[in-house]
Amino acid sequence: MEQQVVRRHEGQENRVRRRRPLTPEERRRREIRRKKRRRKVYMARCIVAVIAFLLVFCIGLGIRQLAGFIKGKWEAKEVISKIDDSRLENTVSEKKVTRPEFLVDLLTINEYSRVGHLLPEVKNIFVHYTANAGTSAAQNRSYFENLKDTHETSASAHFIIGYEGEAIQCIPLNEVGYAVMQRNYDSVSIECCYLDESGKFTEATYNKLVEMLAWLVTLYELKPTDILRHYDEGGKMCPKYYVEHEEEWEKLIEDVANYIEEYGVLKESVVE
Ligand SMILES: [Zn+2]
Repeated sequence: MEQQVVRRHEGQENRVRRRRPLTPEERRRREIRRKKRRRKVYMARCIVAVIAFLLVFCIGLGIRQLAGFIKGKWEAKEVISKIDDSRLENTVSEKKVTRPEFLVDLLTINEYSRVGHLLPEVKNIFVHYTANAGTSAAQNRSYFENLKDTHETSASAHFIIGYEGEAIQCIPLNEVGYAVMQRNYDSVSIECCYLDESGKFTEATYNKLVEMLAWLVTLYELKPTDILRHYDEGGKMCPKYYVEHEEEWEKLIEDVANYIEEYGVLKESVVE
């Protein structure tokens, strides 16, 4: 009983002590402590917010990557299973230049000449020469095909035009070729055979090339000026004769435009 009285008494004293007005120094310290606490809480909230944001961002990125990966796999499968590009069939119409004759002899899928990757878009058509005088289209196709065993280099082209004007398709138009290193994913390439060291194409090769280019230009709704030499992208001396003879190259582009004018419906945008 006595103890309780004493405690109550002490309690009263404590309350009295708490109510005692704080000195300015004490108030200042309390304020500082309060500010520190607030700052800590604020910092903690910031850190939590940043972590939450990063987490959401990473999850989002992960989902996107995964979706892209799955889509890529699916598309690659599509490419391999659908070798005949439907666009090839659609070109025989009044509006486009007729598809020229060529032999379809596709390379085996391999990492050195036909990787089987989807070609997402075509901005340019590149013209090359084989850099091997006197070899035929078939021989050059074999060279590309054999790279899967020789591993000599990575090289290929969608088409090869022989010196007698024969043409072979090695890669479907919806797949990438290995022809212009930095442009393989947005262009189509044509290799041309030739007979003498000048690198000049025979008349048969030249005429076939004009036909092929006219067809591809209308197929992809490009302009004749979208036809480029390998040389124009990276400076390689290819196709030799048409790098050394600029006027012959210009004539080729003009001949393609004329061919389209004569045998296809040339869109306004195609004429420059
Ligand atoms: Zn080239």
